[in-house]
Amino acid sequence: GFSRRGIRGNFVPPIKSNGGNSGNLTSRIGGKGDDTADDSTKRCLELLCGPDGELPEKLRNLEPRLIEHVSNEIMDKDPNVRWEDIAGLDHAKKCVTEMVIWPLLRPDIFKGCRSPGKGLLLFGPPGTGKTMIGKAIAGEAKATFFYISASSLTSKWIGEGEKLVRALFGVASCRQPAVIFVDEIDSLLSQRKSEGEHESSRRLKTQFLIEMEGFDSGSEQILLIGATNRPQELDEAARRRLTKRLYIPLPSSEARAWIIQNLLKKDGLFKLEKEDIDTICKLTEGYSGSDMKNLVKDASMGPLREALKQGIEITKLKKEDMRPVTLKDFEQALQEVRPSVSLNELGTYEKWNNQFGSLS
Ligand code: ADP
Repeated sequence: GFSRRGIRGNFVPPIKSNGGNSGNLTSRIGGKGDDTADDSTKRCLELLCGPDGELPEKLRNLEPRLIEHVSNEIMDKDPNVRWEDIAGLDHAKKCVTEMVIWPLLRPDIFKGCRSPGKGLLLFGPPGTGKTMIGKAIAGEAKATFFYISASSLTSKWIGEGEKLVRALFGVASCRQPAVIFVDEIDSLLSQRKSEGEHESSRRLKTQFLIEMEGFDSGSEQILLIGATNRPQELDEAARRRLTKRLYIPLPSSEARAWIIQNLLKKDGLFKLEKEDIDTICKLTEGYSGSDMKNLVKDASMGPLREALKQGIEITKLKKEDMRPVTLKDFEQALQEVRPSVSLNELGTYEKWNNQFGSLS
Protein backbone atom coordinates (compact mmCIF):
# COMPACT_ATOMS: atom_id res chain seq x y z
CA GLY A 1 0.00 0.00 0.00
CA PHE A 2 1.04 3.56 -0.41
CA SER A 3 -0.51 6.80 0.78
CA ARG A 4 1.08 6.53 4.16
CA ARG A 5 4.03 8.52 5.31
CA GLY A 6 6.85 8.45 2.89
CA ILE A 7 7.49 11.45 0.78
CA ARG A 8 4.62 13.60 1.82
CA GLY A 9 6.78 16.68 2.13
CA ASN A 10 7.11 19.13 -0.65
CA PHE A 11 10.04 19.02 -2.90
CA VAL A 12 12.88 20.81 -1.19
CA PRO A 13 14.63 23.13 -3.55
CA PRO A 14 18.37 22.80 -3.70
CA ILE A 15 20.20 24.67 -1.01
CA LYS A 16 23.16 26.76 -1.90
CA SER A 17 26.26 24.91 -1.00
CA ASN A 18 29.78 26.14 -1.18
CA GLY A 19 30.81 22.88 -2.74
CA GLY A 20 33.95 21.26 -1.48
CA ASN A 21 33.92 17.91 0.20
CA SER A 22 35.58 18.52 3.49
CA GLY A 23 33.90 17.08 6.51
CA ASN A 24 33.79 20.47 8.14
CA LEU A 25 30.22 21.60 8.50
CA THR A 26 30.67 25.32 8.33
CA SER A 27 32.65 25.14 5.17
CA ARG A 28 30.10 22.81 3.62
CA ILE A 29 26.97 24.72 4.33
CA GLY A 30 28.18 28.23 4.04
CA GLY A 31 28.68 30.37 7.09
CA LYS A 32 27.29 33.74 6.28
CA GLY A 33 23.73 34.87 5.79
CA ASP A 34 22.30 31.70 7.28
CA ASP A 35 18.70 31.41 6.24
CA THR A 36 16.39 28.93 7.95
CA ALA A 37 16.83 26.14 5.42
CA ASP A 38 20.57 26.27 5.98
CA ASP A 39 20.02 26.20 9.73
CA SER A 40 17.90 23.10 9.67
CA THR A 41 20.26 21.33 7.31
CA LYS A 42 23.09 22.18 9.62
CA ARG A 43 21.29 20.89 12.69
CA CYS A 44 20.45 17.73 10.87
CA LEU A 45 24.04 17.12 9.79
CA GLU A 46 25.30 17.87 13.27
CA LEU A 47 23.23 14.99 14.58
CA LEU A 48 25.05 12.65 12.24
CA CYS A 49 28.50 13.82 13.23
CA GLY A 50 30.79 11.66 15.26
CA PRO A 51 32.20 12.64 18.65
CA ASP A 52 35.00 14.46 16.85
CA GLY A 53 32.42 16.75 15.25
CA GLU A 54 33.28 15.44 11.81
CA LEU A 55 30.78 14.08 9.33
CA PRO A 56 31.33 10.32 8.80
CA GLU A 57 33.36 9.44 5.74
CA LYS A 58 30.38 7.92 3.94
CA LEU A 59 28.36 11.10 4.06
CA ARG A 60 31.02 13.53 2.95
CA ASN A 61 30.41 13.32 -0.75
CA LEU A 62 26.65 13.55 -0.45
CA GLU A 63 24.58 16.65 -0.87
CA PRO A 64 23.47 18.02 2.50
CA ARG A 65 19.90 18.58 1.35
CA LEU A 66 19.57 14.90 0.40
CA ILE A 67 20.96 13.81 3.74
CA GLU A 68 18.47 16.13 5.37
CA HIS A 69 15.62 14.69 3.34
CA VAL A 70 16.59 11.17 4.36
CA SER A 71 16.84 12.16 8.02
CA ASN A 72 13.59 14.09 8.15
CA GLU A 73 11.26 12.34 5.73
CA ILE A 74 12.51 8.81 5.25
CA MET A 75 13.88 8.00 8.66
CA ASP A 76 11.25 7.18 11.24
CA LYS A 77 12.61 7.74 14.69
CA ASP A 78 9.77 5.95 16.41
CA PRO A 79 8.15 3.24 14.28
CA ASN A 80 5.65 2.58 17.04
CA VAL A 81 4.32 -0.81 15.88
CA ARG A 82 4.65 -3.92 18.04
CA TRP A 83 4.14 -7.58 17.21
CA GLU A 84 0.93 -7.65 19.21
CA ASP A 85 -0.60 -4.95 16.99
CA ILE A 86 -0.47 -7.30 14.03
CA ALA A 87 -3.30 -9.80 13.67
CA GLY A 88 -2.54 -13.38 12.64
CA LEU A 89 0.55 -14.01 10.48
CA ASP A 90 2.05 -16.22 13.17
CA HIS A 91 4.19 -18.04 10.68
CA ALA A 92 5.67 -14.85 9.26
CA LYS A 93 6.28 -13.47 12.74
CA LYS A 94 8.13 -16.60 13.79
CA CYS A 95 10.31 -16.64 10.66
CA VAL A 96 11.11 -12.97 10.95
CA THR A 97 12.02 -13.29 14.60
CA GLU A 98 14.60 -15.97 13.89
CA MET A 99 15.89 -14.63 10.61
CA VAL A 100 16.02 -10.98 11.35
CA ILE A 101 15.40 -9.88 14.90
CA TRP A 102 17.73 -12.25 16.70
CA PRO A 103 20.61 -11.48 14.31
CA LEU A 104 20.07 -7.74 14.77
CA LEU A 105 20.03 -8.13 18.55
CA ARG A 106 22.94 -10.58 18.73
CA PRO A 107 25.33 -10.06 15.82
CA ASP A 108 28.04 -11.80 17.81
CA ILE A 109 26.16 -15.12 17.67
CA PHE A 110 24.83 -14.78 14.16
CA LYS A 111 28.02 -14.90 12.18
CA GLY A 112 29.77 -17.56 10.15
CA CYS A 113 27.34 -20.37 9.39
CA ARG A 114 24.60 -18.55 11.21
CA SER A 115 25.09 -15.29 9.37
CA PRO A 116 21.72 -14.03 8.24
CA GLY A 117 20.68 -12.91 4.78
CA LYS A 118 20.59 -9.17 4.43
CA GLY A 119 17.55 -9.04 2.20
CA LEU A 120 13.97 -9.99 2.98
CA LEU A 121 11.03 -9.85 0.59
CA LEU A 122 7.48 -9.57 1.87
CA PHE A 123 4.99 -10.24 -0.89
CA GLY A 124 1.25 -10.62 -1.09
CA PRO A 125 -1.91 -8.61 -1.62
CA PRO A 126 -1.99 -4.93 -0.64
CA GLY A 127 -3.12 -3.99 2.86
CA THR A 128 -2.12 -7.20 4.63
CA GLY A 129 0.42 -5.86 7.10
CA LYS A 130 3.71 -5.86 5.20
CA THR A 131 4.58 -2.34 6.26
CA MET A 132 3.45 -3.07 9.80
CA ILE A 133 5.85 -6.03 9.90
CA GLY A 134 8.70 -3.82 8.70
CA LYS A 135 8.01 -1.29 11.43
CA ALA A 136 7.59 -3.98 14.06
CA ILE A 137 10.96 -5.47 13.11
CA ALA A 138 12.62 -2.12 13.62
CA GLY A 139 10.78 -1.66 16.91
CA GLU A 140 11.57 -5.11 18.28
CA ALA A 141 15.20 -5.02 17.16
CA LYS A 142 15.66 -1.45 18.40
CA ALA A 143 16.76 -0.47 14.93
CA THR A 144 16.30 2.75 13.01
CA PHE A 145 13.53 2.43 10.45
CA PHE A 146 13.76 3.94 6.96
CA TYR A 147 10.69 3.90 4.73
CA ILE A 148 10.78 4.73 1.06
CA SER A 149 8.38 3.99 -1.72
CA ALA A 150 10.33 2.88 -4.76
CA SER A 151 7.91 4.51 -7.13
CA SER A 152 8.68 7.90 -5.61
CA LEU A 153 12.30 7.42 -6.61
CA THR A 154 11.32 7.18 -10.22
CA SER A 155 8.40 9.60 -10.25
CA LYS A 156 9.36 12.29 -7.83
CA TRP A 157 13.11 12.26 -7.72
CA ILE A 158 13.57 12.20 -11.45
CA GLY A 159 17.24 12.29 -12.25
CA GLU A 160 18.15 12.38 -8.56
CA GLY A 161 17.10 8.91 -7.53
CA GLU A 162 20.62 7.55 -7.55
CA LYS A 163 21.88 10.30 -5.33
CA LEU A 164 18.99 9.82 -2.94
CA VAL A 165 19.64 6.08 -2.81
CA ARG A 166 23.26 6.77 -1.92
CA ALA A 167 22.20 9.19 0.78
CA LEU A 168 19.72 6.65 2.12
CA PHE A 169 22.25 3.86 2.46
CA GLY A 170 24.84 6.32 3.75
CA VAL A 171 22.64 7.63 6.55
CA ALA A 172 21.47 4.09 7.36
CA SER A 173 25.02 2.96 7.80
CA CYS A 174 25.56 5.75 10.32
CA ARG A 175 22.44 4.69 12.18
CA GLN A 176 22.99 0.99 12.66
CA PRO A 177 21.29 -1.27 13.36
CA ALA A 178 18.99 -0.12 10.59
CA VAL A 179 16.04 -1.48 8.66
CA ILE A 180 15.47 -0.06 5.18
CA PHE A 181 11.93 -0.74 3.99
CA VAL A 182 11.41 -0.32 0.25
CA ASP A 183 7.75 -0.38 -0.63
CA GLU A 184 6.71 -1.34 -4.18
CA ILE A 185 10.19 -2.66 -4.75
CA ASP A 186 9.04 -4.17 -8.04
CA SER A 187 8.97 -0.72 -9.61
CA LEU A 188 12.70 -0.44 -8.91
CA LEU A 189 13.88 -3.98 -9.57
CA SER A 190 11.46 -5.06 -12.24
CA GLN A 191 12.45 -7.40 -15.03
CA ARG A 192 10.22 -5.78 -17.55
CA LYS A 193 12.30 -3.96 -20.10
CA SER A 194 9.69 -1.54 -21.29
CA GLU A 195 10.76 -0.28 -24.71
CA GLY A 196 11.58 3.07 -23.35
CA GLU A 197 13.26 1.83 -20.24
CA HIS A 198 15.03 4.99 -19.50
CA GLU A 199 18.72 5.07 -19.10
CA SER A 200 18.09 6.78 -15.79
CA SER A 201 15.93 4.02 -14.35
CA ARG A 202 18.50 1.45 -15.38
CA ARG A 203 21.17 3.44 -13.60
CA LEU A 204 18.99 3.73 -10.54
CA LYS A 205 18.51 -0.02 -10.43
CA THR A 206 22.24 -0.61 -10.80
CA GLN A 207 23.02 1.87 -8.06
CA PHE A 208 20.54 0.18 -5.79
CA LEU A 209 22.00 -3.26 -6.37
CA ILE A 210 25.49 -1.93 -5.78
CA GLU A 211 24.45 -0.44 -2.45
CA MET A 212 22.86 -3.74 -1.45
CA GLU A 213 25.96 -5.64 -2.43
CA GLY A 214 27.95 -3.25 -0.28
CA PHE A 215 26.44 -4.36 2.99
CA ASP A 216 25.76 -7.92 1.86
CA SER A 217 29.15 -9.25 2.70
CA GLY A 218 30.30 -6.86 5.36
CA SER A 219 29.57 -6.77 9.02
CA GLU A 220 27.05 -3.98 8.66
CA GLN A 221 23.91 -4.22 10.72
CA ILE A 222 21.56 -3.20 7.94
CA LEU A 223 18.57 -5.17 6.79
CA LEU A 224 16.79 -4.42 3.55
CA ILE A 225 13.11 -5.32 3.38
CA GLY A 226 11.36 -5.11 0.04
CA ALA A 227 7.58 -5.24 -0.16
CA THR A 228 5.58 -5.91 -3.27
CA ASN A 229 2.14 -6.81 -4.57
CA ARG A 230 3.69 -7.90 -7.83
CA PRO A 231 6.42 -10.42 -7.01
CA GLN A 232 6.22 -11.91 -10.48
CA GLU A 233 7.75 -8.72 -11.86
CA LEU A 234 11.01 -9.12 -9.97
CA ASP A 235 13.93 -10.34 -11.98
CA GLU A 236 16.45 -12.97 -11.10
CA ALA A 237 19.05 -10.53 -9.76
CA ALA A 238 16.47 -9.09 -7.39
CA ARG A 239 15.38 -12.52 -6.21
CA ARG A 240 18.96 -13.53 -5.60
CA ARG A 241 19.54 -10.59 -3.31
CA LEU A 242 16.29 -10.95 -1.43
CA THR A 243 17.20 -14.32 -0.03
CA LYS A 244 14.18 -14.78 2.22
CA ARG A 245 10.79 -14.36 0.61
CA LEU A 246 7.75 -14.52 2.84
CA TYR A 247 4.19 -14.68 1.64
CA ILE A 248 1.95 -12.35 3.62
CA PRO A 249 -1.54 -13.62 2.86
CA LEU A 250 -5.00 -12.22 3.52
CA PRO A 251 -6.08 -12.41 7.17
CA SER A 252 -7.78 -15.58 8.37
CA SER A 253 -11.23 -15.47 9.89
CA GLU A 254 -9.72 -15.33 13.40
CA ALA A 255 -7.40 -12.53 12.39
CA ARG A 256 -10.34 -10.57 10.97
CA ALA A 257 -12.26 -11.02 14.22
CA TRP A 258 -9.24 -9.77 16.11
CA ILE A 259 -8.89 -6.68 13.90
CA ILE A 260 -12.55 -5.76 14.40
CA GLN A 261 -12.40 -6.09 18.17
CA ASN A 262 -9.05 -4.42 18.48
CA LEU A 263 -10.17 -1.37 16.50
CA LEU A 264 -13.56 -1.06 18.17
CA LYS A 265 -12.29 -1.36 21.70
CA LYS A 266 -10.03 1.64 21.12
CA ASP A 267 -12.93 4.05 21.10
CA GLY A 268 -15.45 2.30 23.13
CA LEU A 269 -19.06 1.87 22.39
CA PHE A 270 -20.17 -1.28 20.58
CA LYS A 271 -22.57 -4.10 21.18
CA LEU A 272 -21.52 -7.22 19.34
CA GLU A 273 -22.08 -10.74 20.60
CA LYS A 274 -19.78 -13.57 19.73
CA GLU A 275 -22.28 -14.71 17.07
CA ASP A 276 -22.33 -11.24 15.53
CA ILE A 277 -18.55 -11.29 15.16
CA ASP A 278 -18.81 -14.75 13.60
CA THR A 279 -21.39 -13.46 11.15
CA ILE A 280 -19.19 -10.54 10.15
CA CYS A 281 -16.23 -12.87 9.70
CA LYS A 282 -18.25 -15.12 7.41
CA LEU A 283 -19.30 -12.13 5.34
CA THR A 284 -15.76 -10.78 5.00
CA GLU A 285 -14.08 -13.75 3.36
CA GLY A 286 -11.42 -12.28 1.05
CA TYR A 287 -11.13 -8.92 2.84
CA SER A 288 -7.61 -7.64 3.54
CA GLY A 289 -6.53 -6.11 6.84
CA SER A 290 -6.93 -2.64 5.46
CA ASP A 291 -10.36 -3.53 3.99
CA MET A 292 -11.34 -4.60 7.52
CA LYS A 293 -10.13 -1.31 8.89
CA ASN A 294 -12.22 0.56 6.34
CA LEU A 295 -15.21 -1.60 7.17
CA VAL A 296 -14.93 -0.84 10.87
CA LYS A 297 -14.59 2.85 10.11
CA ASP A 298 -17.68 2.83 7.98
CA ALA A 299 -19.68 0.80 10.50
CA SER A 300 -18.69 3.23 13.26
CA MET A 301 -20.30 6.02 11.29
CA GLY A 302 -23.70 4.27 11.57
CA PRO A 303 -24.68 5.52 15.02
CA LEU A 304 -23.45 9.01 14.21
CA ARG A 305 -25.44 9.23 10.99
CA GLU A 306 -28.51 7.99 12.79
CA ALA A 307 -28.23 10.56 15.57
CA LEU A 308 -27.86 13.35 13.05
CA LYS A 309 -30.85 12.08 11.09
CA GLN A 310 -32.92 12.49 14.24
CA GLY A 311 -32.21 16.16 14.03
CA ILE A 312 -29.37 16.63 16.50
CA GLU A 313 -26.90 19.20 15.25
CA ILE A 314 -23.34 18.03 14.83
CA THR A 315 -22.04 20.89 16.98
CA LYS A 316 -24.41 19.99 19.81
CA LEU A 317 -24.01 16.22 19.55
CA LYS A 318 -22.94 14.49 22.76
CA LYS A 319 -21.31 11.10 22.91
CA GLU A 320 -24.32 9.80 24.86
CA ASP A 321 -26.59 10.65 21.94
CA MET A 322 -25.06 7.84 19.93
CA ARG A 323 -26.10 4.23 20.35
CA PRO A 324 -23.45 1.49 20.31
CA VAL A 325 -22.21 0.05 17.03
CA THR A 326 -24.10 -3.15 16.17
CA LEU A 327 -24.23 -5.90 13.57
CA LYS A 328 -26.71 -3.81 11.61
CA ASP A 329 -24.03 -1.15 11.06
CA PHE A 330 -21.65 -3.76 9.73
CA GLU A 331 -24.25 -5.15 7.37
CA GLN A 332 -24.78 -1.66 6.06
CA ALA A 333 -21.04 -1.02 5.77
CA LEU A 334 -20.54 -4.27 3.85
CA GLN A 335 -22.56 -2.71 1.03
CA GLU A 336 -20.08 0.13 0.82
CA VAL A 337 -16.73 -1.50 1.51
CA ARG A 338 -15.91 -4.28 -0.92
CA PRO A 339 -12.84 -6.53 -0.87
CA SER A 340 -9.98 -5.03 -2.84
CA VAL A 341 -8.25 -8.25 -3.87
CA SER A 342 -9.63 -10.66 -6.45
CA LEU A 343 -9.49 -14.45 -6.32
CA ASN A 344 -7.56 -14.39 -9.52
CA GLU A 345 -4.80 -12.30 -7.96
CA LEU A 346 -4.60 -14.65 -5.01
CA GLY A 347 -3.85 -17.50 -7.38
CA THR A 348 -0.88 -15.59 -8.76
CA TYR A 349 0.59 -15.09 -5.28
CA GLU A 350 0.23 -18.73 -4.35
CA LYS A 351 1.86 -19.84 -7.55
CA TRP A 352 4.79 -17.52 -7.05
CA ASN A 353 5.03 -18.60 -3.42
CA ASN A 354 5.28 -22.25 -4.43
CA GLN A 355 8.00 -21.46 -6.88
CA PHE A 356 10.09 -18.87 -5.06
CA GLY A 357 8.77 -18.43 -1.52
CA SER A 358 10.70 -19.41 1.62
CA LEU A 359 8.86 -21.93 3.70
CA SER A 360 10.73 -21.20 6.88
P1 ADP B 1 0.75 -3.42 3.21
O1 ADP B 1 0.73 -4.92 3.23
O2 ADP B 1 0.15 -2.88 1.95
O3 ADP B 1 2.09 -2.84 3.53
P2 ADP B 1 -0.02 -2.17 5.69
O4 ADP B 1 0.90 -2.87 6.60
O5 ADP B 1 0.34 -0.78 5.33
O6 ADP B 1 -0.27 -3.01 4.35
O7 ADP B 1 -1.49 -2.19 6.31
C1 ADP B 1 -2.40 -1.13 6.09
C2 ADP B 1 -3.35 -1.00 7.28
O8 ADP B 1 -4.22 -2.11 7.30
C3 ADP B 1 -2.61 -1.03 8.60
O9 ADP B 1 -2.28 0.26 9.02
C4 ADP B 1 -3.60 -1.70 9.52
O10 ADP B 1 -4.51 -0.76 10.03
C5 ADP B 1 -4.38 -2.62 8.63
N1 ADP B 1 -3.85 -4.00 8.66
C6 ADP B 1 -3.39 -4.71 7.59
N2 ADP B 1 -2.99 -5.93 7.94
C7 ADP B 1 -3.17 -6.02 9.28
C8 ADP B 1 -2.93 -7.06 10.26
N3 ADP B 1 -2.43 -8.26 9.91
N4 ADP B 1 -3.22 -6.78 11.55
C9 ADP B 1 -3.74 -5.61 11.92
N5 ADP B 1 -4.00 -4.60 11.06
C10 ADP B 1 -3.72 -4.79 9.75
